[in-house]
Amino acid sequence: WEKLTINKKNKDEISEMQQAYNAMIERVEENRQKQERFVSDASHELRTPISVIKSYAELLKRRGKDKPEIFDEATDAILSESDRMQHLTEQMLVLAKKEDQENIKFEQVNISQIARDVIRSLSTAYQREIKFYHDTDHDITVSADRNKIQQAIYILVDNACKYSEDIVVVQIQENHQQLTIAVSDNGEGLSKNEQEHIFDRFYRVDKSRSRKAGGTGLGLAICHQIIQAHGGEIEITSQVNQGSTFTLTLPM
Ligand code: ADP
Repeated sequence: WEKLTINKKNKDEISEMQQAYNAMIERVEENRQKQERFVSDASHELRTPISVIKSYAELLKRRGKDKPEIFDEATDAILSESDRMQHLTEQMLVLAKKEDQENIKFEQVNISQIARDVIRSLSTAYQREIKFYHDTDHDITVSADRNKIQQAIYILVDNACKYSEDIVVVQIQENHQQLTIAVSDNGEGLSKNEQEHIFDRFYRVDKSRSRKAGGTGLGLAICHQIIQAHGGEIEITSQVNQGSTFTLTLPM
């Protein structure tokens, strides 16, 4: 056993350890609060479809047998609210599952082809023209998880269609070992304050508009998570009533 003498060197070490310990405790507490907020927001979001389903089921029970129009209205509402709940719970699972964030299956994927597929499917779904600008004359390949990267691009193009009525543009560029995919619209745009919260879970500028469009407020949070897991970045530039551009950057 040696007598412990505190000299300048181990005093510094102790203070470094103390700082690291305090930072760790802060992060644990932050994560705990985030988790708590997620559970409380999720329950709140599920409460609306559940109460709609419940009241239509009660109406169906009371008057559905005698009135065919009530039967139709109630069953339609129950089906669409159940669809909504299904979509919401699937998205919540994606965000909550830790292994989903770590379980990235990297392979060489043709990102140009993925973008073309997303554009084709959404321009058919929305009956809209979506312009595609490709910077190079050859298709671009990157190391990524095919399904996840497709989901991220899909969310951005889908949002651009949902929150604007005019033209949507997708642009792919390759520069300095980086790939950028920019999705622009001339829609309602977002204020500086809204932009700060846009990637938060369940954040929606206009709840009723998002709800009508089948939104959950989780799309951009999922997109952000996917791009972070790929070592990339997602950025937004936007102006109210002028439109927005969401840019994904991926290392090549
Ligand atoms: P949602 O399912 O509601 O679309 P997101 O997480 O994808 O959820 O988006 C969060 C919110 O950000 C949306 O509800 C909408 O208010 C806003 N938003 C997303 N994309 C755009 C866009 N291109 N233009 C304007 N607002 C947008």
